[in-house]
Amino acid sequence: MHPELVKLEQSFGLSVLTKIDDPLLDDYQVSLWIKRDDLLHPIISGNKWRKLKYNLDHALSLGADTLISMGGTYSNHLHALAYTGKILGLKTIGIIRGEKPALLTPTLQDMQNWGMELRFISRTEFRHYRNYRDWQDLPDIKPNEFWLPEGGANHLALKGMAELVNEIDIEYDTLCVACGTGVTLAGLIDAVPGRQSALGFAALKHADFLQPDVKSLLSKNSNNWEIILDYHCGGFANTSLELTSFMHAFTQKTSIPLDPVYTGKMLYGLYDLIAKGYFKPGQRIIALHTGGLQGNRGYA
Ligand SMILES: *Cc1c(COP(=O)(O)O)cnc(C)c1O
Repeated sequence: MHPELVKLEQSFGLSVLTKIDDPLLDDYQVSLWIKRDDLLHPIISGNKWRKLKYNLDHALSLGADTLISMGGTYSNHLHALAYTGKILGLKTIGIIRGEKPALLTPTLQDMQNWGMELRFISRTEFRHYRNYRDWQDLPDIKPNEFWLPEGGANHLALKGMAELVNEIDIEYDTLCVACGTGVTLAGLIDAVPGRQSALGFAALKHADFLQPDVKSLLSKNSNNWEIILDYHCGGFANTSLELTSFMHAFTQKTSIPLDPVYTGKMLYGLYDLIAKGYFKPGQRIIALHTGGLQGNRGYA
């Protein structure tokens, strides 16, 4: 690992396991822990650091001084990348979906303040960029530049997720995570032992793409995983009254903050599945808190 990355990671908080006490869990005789990747860092939080880590290490080992990636106007991935670039003294370029808004979102404003060059492209063009997967795949890329695909969809991202799984030092049956691109879930599936399972909760509506996308990322043929599509709560940037009141009650009880795009929907869905008897009595569940709390400003 590059010394600058080691130094950065040494400044991080600990991703502890927090046990949740809730009468509902007792009723259904299941146990739930939250793996607190949100505590790693206030900005480079959760799965974004896990997915970036080995990509950054590879970029630095190649001598790259510029990192380029893509995302939406509230992208936690670009936000983390812009901040990390600033800390490491690397130039960053963010390719943003859609026209430049008259008023930058708080996320974009941060990215610009941290020195990221923002390039706005049409939605059609953006979709095209999704085809560029490997670090040198971007057309006209220069030798000093390093390309990261949307969501960090490559084997280096999966390697970072495996590290997370290895940190878990308790017995469990199911590991839950929210899915955007599904890269994080793929990393978990690759790393969890076969007698345990991984359960993804889609944050997007019409997320049928997830199943084949995740499958294509896996390095081995696993079938101990499932993706639940029913808890998008109206779609990626949407919330429902049920979702927001669930999140509010959960945070009141546990002091764990959630975001409405990912972790809120995952836990809302998970609690609903528990109440429907989806899990056998005695099951031990770990839900991954993937961070992303900066995005909450979009809902203020
Ligand atoms: C990006 C993100 C996800 C989704 O990760 P994917 O690897 O794209 O599926 C989940 N939770 C949070 C908080 C995120 O920021």
